[in-house]
Amino acid sequence: MAPKSLDTLHPATIAAQAAGLLDEGTGGVVPPIHPATTFVRGEDYAPIVEGNVYSRSSAPNGEMVEKVLAQLEGAADAMVFPSGMAAVAAIFRTLPSGATVLVQSQIYWGTTAWIRDFCTRRAITLIEVEAADTEAFAAACATHKPKLAWIETPSNPWLRIVDLTACADAVHAAGGLLVADMTTATPVLTRALDFGADIAMHSATKGLNGHSDVLAGALSVADAQSDIWQAIRADRDMAGAVLGPFEAWLLLRGMRTLPLRAERMSQNAQRLAEYLSDHPAVEAVLYPGLPNHKGHALACTQMKGGFGPLLSFVVKGGAAALSAVGRLKLFHRATSLGGVESLVEHRHTIEPHTGIPEGLLRLSVGIEDAGDLMDDLGQALGQ
Ligand code: PLP
Repeated sequence: MAPKSLDTLHPATIAAQAAGLLDEGTGGVVPPIHPATTFVRGEDYAPIVEGNVYSRSSAPNGEMVEKVLAQLEGAADAMVFPSGMAAVAAIFRTLPSGATVLVQSQIYWGTTAWIRDFCTRRAITLIEVEAADTEAFAAACATHKPKLAWIETPSNPWLRIVDLTACADAVHAAGGLLVADMTTATPVLTRALDFGADIAMHSATKGLNGHSDVLAGALSVADAQSDIWQAIRADRDMAGAVLGPFEAWLLLRGMRTLPLRAERMSQNAQRLAEYLSDHPAVEAVLYPGLPNHKGHALACTQMKGGFGPLLSFVVKGGAAALSAVGRLKLFHRATSLGGVESLVEHRHTIEPHTGIPEGLLRLSVGIEDAGDLMDDLGQALGQ
């Protein structure tokens, strides 16, 4: 039987085999690192390898990641950047002064803070709206007719679930585009473009790489000929927000195990969410895999194979949360998410001005043994 075409292969196969990439020069099953910044031309002055001229415009290792990501995402094209924030900025830099944008409220604080500052500097009208409230989002689209709407699902750290299809319909009807930050879900759990988003964004620093050793960002697009995509590509070529070859190589290596990691992290997070729900020291658990979560039914339709590694919970008594964090032995007290090792964050300490309650702890659940993680939480909370 002939092998299936890449279009019909499953994510686990695409990722494990890096969409068929090999070291063409040696036959090695792992593609090499290409550190060259410039590429030779022949006697006729044409590039020896078509398209390879200068690594700010075409970088072989970055292109390998883009190929695999586009396959996983069901995208027409993908682009990688040196951080998630560089990918966010790449989108917003395409907006003309005077434009109007709609941005989901209470998303990753770094995104909110940067967008607020950028919009002020560029005289862009910024409307912030709770996009998990579909009616409020649709009403804001109809009133303000944004050129672009930005959502994040599941959101960080509130784990709100946004209806991608409803939001895409609403912003399209108003003549704008929908960009979805899918960092927490990764394309393995949700392919945002399948639900109507125009561009999916990822902090590849998180689950895509999964090993807390690469800073990177990524965008995937449904229509590679769209004006916004052409503008982003031109801006990346000229302004130079490109991912280095070693980082791209590491990212590709990390992505080979993404489907496995996404599955195990989701299983572990689900078990911890259920455990914490029954814990007497815990006031509330925010995890879309729990049936009592407000966005659970929607998450079941949008997320496939699990609900991701991110989980927040509120410790009774507020201040008790910080003491509990200090007692944790397995969870590293560190920011970020989506790595193989479990992390815990007391975001109130870091961002006291953003309204995050003192009792809220955010977990990024890794691939360790779930029982060990539960024991650690138990001893820290007092069982
Ligand atoms: N989007 C989300 C949801 C994030 O959690 C983060 C970082 O924490 C970013 C974007 C920014 O990504 P980076 O840190 O790779 O610049």
